[in-house]
Amino acid sequence: MTDHAVVIVGGGPTGLMLAGELALAGMDVAIVERRPSQDLAGARAGGLHARTIEVLDQRGIAGRFLAEGQVAQVAGFSGTRLDISDFPTRHPYGLGLWQNHIERILAGWVEELAVTFYRGREVTALAQDGAGVDIQLARGGQLRAEYVVGCDGGRSLVRKAAGIDFPGWDPTTSALIAEVEMTGQPEFGVHQNAFGIHSFGRREYEIRDGQVVYADSGPVGVMVTEEHVGTGSEPTLLDLSDALIAVCGTDYGAHSPIWISRFTDMTRQAAIYRSARVLLAGDAAHVHAPDGGQGLNTGVQDAVNLGWKLGQVVNGTSPERLLDSYHAERHPVAARVLRNTMAQSALRRPDPRIKAAGEVVAELLGMEEPRKRFAAMQSGLDIRYDLGEGHPLLGRRMPDVDLVTTGGTEPVYSLLHEGHPVLLNLGTPGTFDSVPRVERVRLVEARYDGSWELPVLGEVTAPVAVLIRPDGHVAWVGDGTDSGLREALAKWFGSPDGVGQGGSSNPEG
Ligand SMILES: Cc1cc2nc3c(=O)[nH]c(=O)nc-3n(C[C@H](O)[C@H](O)[C@H](O)COP(=O)(O)OP(=O)(O)OC[C@H]3O[C@@H](n4cnc5c(N)ncnc54)[C@H](O)[C@@H]3O)c2cc1C
Repeated sequence: MTDHAVVIVGGGPTGLMLAGELALAGMDVAIVERRPSQDLAGARAGGLHARTIEVLDQRGIAGRFLAEGQVAQVAGFSGTRLDISDFPTRHPYGLGLWQNHIERILAGWVEELAVTFYRGREVTALAQDGAGVDIQLARGGQLRAEYVVGCDGGRSLVRKAAGIDFPGWDPTTSALIAEVEMTGQPEFGVHQNAFGIHSFGRREYEIRDGQVVYADSGPVGVMVTEEHVGTGSEPTLLDLSDALIAVCGTDYGAHSPIWISRFTDMTRQAAIYRSARVLLAGDAAHVHAPDGGQGLNTGVQDAVNLGWKLGQVVNGTSPERLLDSYHAERHPVAARVLRNTMAQSALRRPDPRIKAAGEVVAELLGMEEPRKRFAAMQSGLDIRYDLGEGHPLLGRRMPDVDLVTTGGTEPVYSLLHEGHPVLLNLGTPGTFDSVPRVERVRLVEARYDGSWELPVLGEVTAPVAVLIRPDGHVAWVGDGTDSGLREALAKWFGSPDGVGQGGSSNPEG
């Protein structure tokens, strides 16, 4: 007997998104979170990139975030802003919104769904067997689940308990971040000197004409590079004062800290994202420097890739091997994030030659093609899962075009709100009526006469039909026939006659 089909350890952004996805898939899902409430000590992520906004749009909740944040061009590489306003997306921008708000809004969505929340409970140990996983809680108590997902952050207990290696690189630099009162008045903005980068600002800000305008009063947000690599996660006001004096010659009378924290450029990635019944997502699977603001975004997108797959495996419509595609698809995405954050943190080093290298990179990024490629990478809009050769849409995100259906005009993403797969027929109506499919796959007949444009690639041939996964990625593209459709349906969503169940451990098989 299990208490829940899936237990998620950690209710940060990744765990919350995954819980929502699993609840939409009809799972009995629970989150175990050691924080007693969703409140977050300190600012972490500063916002969302375009693909994450799209992913939230796929669930019909992007508006909740857009209503509270500041729309802005947030994609960047090593200090160079990368404008995506000409990209073919409904959201050619990012969103400035602090992580505590992102978590609060996500938690509000999760509360509307059937998710059990064990707050103020810490997982201390795990043990898995052939049928499930036992989860030990602090202060006594145990849970049992068919699957456990570790969304418990960079120091993940789940990862360690499952014996999953976390290879990578130790930190070479560290910085303190804090919110404090100051008697002095530092110059707001980002500065660089012989010690590295430091910045000052206020938590509350507005974006006016593309410029950050800070609130007139309130505590000051500080980021300061430390002279020596700091360790541990609980730095003090004295550490902050010392670092500020070393870099700026004054601590600006810093006092009354609201919070102080430290980040480093430690870069590590879980060797495998699944060990039998234990999976990892978000920071539990990958940690890196915050350059480019990609951590939270990558975690939320891990969750959206995993949720529907795990749902189908638990409810028996797909074989367990579908879960192997989670590692196959998401490990390379985070590996690329690790690579670009290592490059960016190296370019932050206070060395004249590195500074020259940074200037050369900035010059290159000023050119059209590199700007497009890097902007697409940083915003997550160019992610392509390797689903084989074929139409450029295959494996990429489905563009959110406005379809003409019998019910009127409908954006593609509104078809994904329930987290179900969609077989979208843009050709002769009725073509797929006789193709057997599981009930969950919704057949939509529609028309779209506009152009098909993808970030970086530009215009592509119009597809006649597409099979869209619940995560918004295209699993099959039709050319007017149903060639390959039965196989794609069976491979990704199971088939009514059981074709595609069991067999090889390769989801490609
Ligand atoms: C300075 C800084 C700036 C950043 N800026 C950005 C940015 O602009 N954009 C961006 O995308 N990312 C950014 N990030 C990264 C982002 O904060 C993380 O990637 C994100 O929080 C990861 O989410 P997560 O849910 O995977 O893990 P976490 O947010 O770490 O959540 C893990 C959760 O698990 C809980 N937990 C841990 N262990 C246990 C246990 N044993 N039992 C029960 N619960 C447990 C924790 O309490 C926590 O709630 C930044 C990070 C830093 C440090």
